[in-house]
Amino acid sequence: MKDFPKTLLELEKCFSTEEACREYLVALRWPDGFYCPHCGHDKAWLRSDGLYECKSCGRKTSVKAGTIFQGSRKSLVLWFRAIWWVSCQKNGASALGLQRILGLGSYQTAWTWLHKLRRAMVRPDQDKLTGTVQVDETFIGGAKTGKRGRGAEGKALVLIIAQEKGKATGRIRLRKIPDASANSLEAALKETVELGSMIKTDGWSGYTGLKIIGYKHEVIRTTVDIGENLLPLCHHEASLIKRWLTGTHQGAVSHEHLDYYLDEYTFRFNRRTSKSRGMLFYRILQNAVAIKPTSYNGITLGVRGRKGKNHKM
Ligand SMILES: [Zn+2]
Repeated sequence: MKDFPKTLLELEKCFSTEEACREYLVALRWPDGFYCPHCGHDKAWLRSDGLYECKSCGRKTSVKAGTIFQGSRKSLVLWFRAIWWVSCQKNGASALGLQRILGLGSYQTAWTWLHKLRRAMVRPDQDKLTGTVQVDETFIGGAKTGKRGRGAEGKALVLIIAQEKGKATGRIRLRKIPDASANSLEAALKETVELGSMIKTDGWSGYTGLKIIGYKHEVIRTTVDIGENLLPLCHHEASLIKRWLTGTHQGAVSHEHLDYYLDEYTFRFNRRTSKSRGMLFYRILQNAVAIKPTSYNGITLGVRGRKGKNHKM
């Protein structure tokens, strides 16, 4: 095995013990070798319980501490299998599916694991899209029967940013936004698209300031519908996302978690042509040791700071 397992057989061969999984995490977390997070010293004993004991300050460090594995009583062997399975689900992973495949006693554990892994599907230093992108908004979710004439009732507004690659889509970014005001649109675009890139939109007034903040801007459709009648690449993406949410997740995605489901969709979509599932496995693990830990309570209470309370347009 180089870097990552290519097949299930390789995974099972390489990661059959807690020790092997730990060694792999150590290499990902400290590519230049272990150093003590307390004092920075780079020499340590590896104890029989798998903890590193700093030769300078004597403090013990677990490779799991400060990663998404922190506090989990389940084995890394099981976690690695979960990540492999999640990497192999081209249409996304459901908690029930994960619970069944791993034989987990509790649905809540499977649900929590998936949420932790979704957080590991975004690189901490995620790059921005460049070149030419099509940008449009769509409504997602909400009660099926809303008040007439208020189509946005209970729905979330999502900004779709699709990079043009010839006539097809290159990579995408998705952001839940509170409304379609210039402020919200520009903030989301600054996070996701490199300044100087070409942004194609419809004639909605919220986009008129893009040139001022440093983008090239072209209006390719003069209509100003919000959430409907999308630009071609965005329209294609919107229908795939909706199918995914109603299929794999059976429409059971609540607004406060939508961001993370969008992250999972983005992760899978942007790697859809990757030949090796092992590459996805590797990426998730790499991020898993680089991001801060979350707990069940953190997941159910905490959202990303972008409050989506105002779903109405
Ligand atoms: Zn130390």
